[in-house]
Amino acid sequence: MTAPVVVVGAGPVGLTAALLLARRGIECVVLDRHRAPYSLPRAVHLDGEVVRILQEAGLAEEFRSPWTWSTRARPDPASSR
Ligand SMILES: Cc1cc2nc3c(=O)[nH]c(=O)nc-3n(C[C@H](O)[C@H](O)[C@H](O)COP(=O)(O)OP(=O)(O)OC[C@H]3O[C@@H](n4cnc5c(N)ncnc54)[C@H](O)[C@@H]3O)c2cc1C
Repeated sequence: MTAPVVVVGAGPVGLTAALLLARRGIECVVLDRHRAPYSLPRAVHLDGEVVRILQEAGLAEEFRSPWTWSTRARPDPASSR
């Protein structure tokens, strides 16, 4: 197995990095020491920066419910995602 990028850790940061790289055509392999995703939520609300990163990944609307965006979150009005 070969890939130009190896991401170690399939948490939110690793998976988001892998997704954003893939959207740019950069192949990557994600490794995690656990075989399955963690079974409990790691967050209950998203701050503005997280919302903007999810917008860039095209996932912001999928996270709108059942998640709660922070009342101070300011989505990028130029993004349609
Ligand atoms: C109770 C709780 C509530 C929270 N609430 C919020 C919230 O409301 N909003 C918010 O934005 N954030 C919240 N957070 C913080 C949020 O969960 C973290 O910021 C986020 O999970 C960090 O993501 P990460 O990918 O950096 O790390 P992690 O989620 O810790 O993922 C790291 C991954 O790397 C893997 N890994 C680690 N070391 C190795 C290794 N050597 N080899 C292979 N794999 C490895 C682990 O198995 C894991 O899957 C909360 C956290 C907790 C604990």
